[in-house]
Amino acid sequence: MKKQYAVIGLGRFGGSMVKALSDQGMEVLAIDIDEERVNEFSNIATHAVIADTTDESVLKSLGIRNFQHVVVAIGDNLQASILTTLILKEMGVEKITVKAQNDYHEKVLKKIGADKIIHPERDMGIRIAHQIVSSSVLDYLELSEEHSMVELKASEKMNGKNLIELDIRARFGCNVVAVRRGKEIYVSPQANQSIHQGDILIVIGRDKDINRLEKHMT
Ligand code: ADP
Repeated sequence: MKKQYAVIGLGRFGGSMVKALSDQGMEVLAIDIDEERVNEFSNIATHAVIADTTDESVLKSLGIRNFQHVVVAIGDNLQASILTTLILKEMGVEKITVKAQNDYHEKVLKKIGADKIIHPERDMGIRIAHQIVSSSVLDYLELSEEHSMVELKASEKMNGKNLIELDIRARFGCNVVAVRRGKEIYVSPQANQSIHQGDILIVIGRDKDINRLEKHMT
């Protein structure tokens, strides 16, 4: 059976999720309290309904319990976001992802058992800041408070050397998990993989080690 998704809150974030899920051929139920927003999605989502999701009976009548994954993307109304999540949890929804507005909101969502909490604006802000500060960092993904994965552009200093000669793991404590060259991608590269200037190295490590690598090698 096809996986069924529901997205509650059709703002910029929830709306983009509905579009992307539909583009991938998924079944999506799109829900919002606002009629105009719902109308916008009536031709995009599998079903689009007007509903206040803080009302348990409404969620029951939509059969939300049978959806494998429900995304709560209610923006500023923290109370509605928290109450909706709580009801979904109590109804036994398999997986609940919630967009958090701030740290307080996240704390409450964790307590009531949201499976995944996301901070799209905060995370995107951090990613873009890293890209702006360093011309060699093309993308950045936070893995924990101290660890990240970054895409680094190979510098002239690295040109023609292989991974043994660069010795990135021993010198900087970082791991090169893949190398991208144009359309080719070498995943888990061998030690003798040679690097060309302009290759993209996908590196995992502690933030301070990645910073040292950036300073010395790019
Ligand atoms: P974004 O920051 O992603 O653009 P918005 O705050 O604009 O988010 O969107 C949140 C959406 O959630 C709005 O369309 C709003 O109508 C909807 N919403 C708010 N409260 C409820 C609720 N109780 N039930 C269903 N949808 C709601």
